[in-house]
Amino acid sequence: MKIPLIVVFILLIGGSLLTVTSTNSSVLAQEKDSSALHHGDDGTFINSAPDFKNDVSILPLLKRYITEKRVDTMPVSEIPLAPLTAEQLQQLPEEQDFVIRLGHSSMLMKLAGKFWLIDPVFSDRASPFSFAGPKRFHQSPIALDSLPEIEGVIISHDHYDHLDEASIKYLSDKAKHFVVPLAVDKYLKKWQVNKNHIHALDWWQSIDIAGVRITATPTQHFSGRGLFDKNETLWASYVIESARSKIYFSGDSGYFDGFKEIGERLGPFDLTMIETGAYDKDWSTIHMTPEESLQAHIDLKGRQMMPVHNGTFDLAFHSWYEPLERIHKLAQASEISLLTPIMGQAISARSEKNETTTWWRQVKS
Ligand SMILES: [Zn+2]
Ligand SMILES: [Zn+2]
Repeated sequence: MKIPLIVVFILLIGGSLLTVTSTNSSVLAQEKDSSALHHGDDGTFINSAPDFKNDVSILPLLKRYITEKRVDTMPVSEIPLAPLTAEQLQQLPEEQDFVIRLGHSSMLMKLAGKFWLIDPVFSDRASPFSFAGPKRFHQSPIALDSLPEIEGVIISHDHYDHLDEASIKYLSDKAKHFVVPLAVDKYLKKWQVNKNHIHALDWWQSIDIAGVRITATPTQHFSGRGLFDKNETLWASYVIESARSKIYFSGDSGYFDGFKEIGERLGPFDLTMIETGAYDKDWSTIHMTPEESLQAHIDLKGRQMMPVHNGTFDLAFHSWYEPLERIHKLAQASEISLLTPIMGQAISARSEKNETTTWWRQVKS
């Protein structure tokens, strides 16, 4: 059991065992059009910051993983959920757009009256193995087979906590559209999604579907589902805009200049959903600390911020509630409007009247 667990851990924090350090080539960068800096010469993708370094060292991390004493890795009592039915979802007023957390970075949205999913993970584990790897703390507030008709599925990148094979296979003949970053379409095709239903976008490319404009935007991260496929597919964040609201979903990202550029080109946003969780000093360029997540929200010109990428899977060394507690205190100090809904609670993307609680403080660890 130990070996698969360690493999999952390596996949989640740094990808390939063979290439533990990747640095962008500035010589290469100078020769390219600035919109294509993230396209490597060998067909893989690279981060756009010229000085980007993913300097994860596997061996010291493995040592930490095996020896470090960790506290409150998962809740002991139940996480509160607001169970959802398709009927309830249909009744949400069509004049507003809604965003509902299902867990981790999985979101259900009602946009221009149609339902959308982002990074749907309904499986028990975020892992290539059914018997090992991070196991969810709570069930989804709605089961896959209870979902209303889905207009589209948006995927941020190919990591197991965002791209779930079983969920995609189930949705393959039910959702009308699948929006993914470049090259992620290869997985969907393998999992029975009709290629005519897949829209693979490069950064800054948009697609209009059913009254919603979706634009893939940069992040600073990496990709890979095995030990030998590092950065073969692109990673992205998204700007999602209807006549009723404009929202931003960060996917996974380290803090980088890209947030400012996205804010300037496509902001401001009624609501930002920003990764706040699974950070660590040993992989600081590919995930953000809560301080950085808050700064990203400010750079993006967001009005309300919803911290995601927490509360469902144990993916780092910090306690399960630390990201929520830290971002809550930071947002209070900077008077930023923070939304921490329980899983299943509908949030109106534009309204000022959303009320959320510090629900994690009531959960026993
Ligand atoms: Zn990731
Ligand atoms: Zn992730």
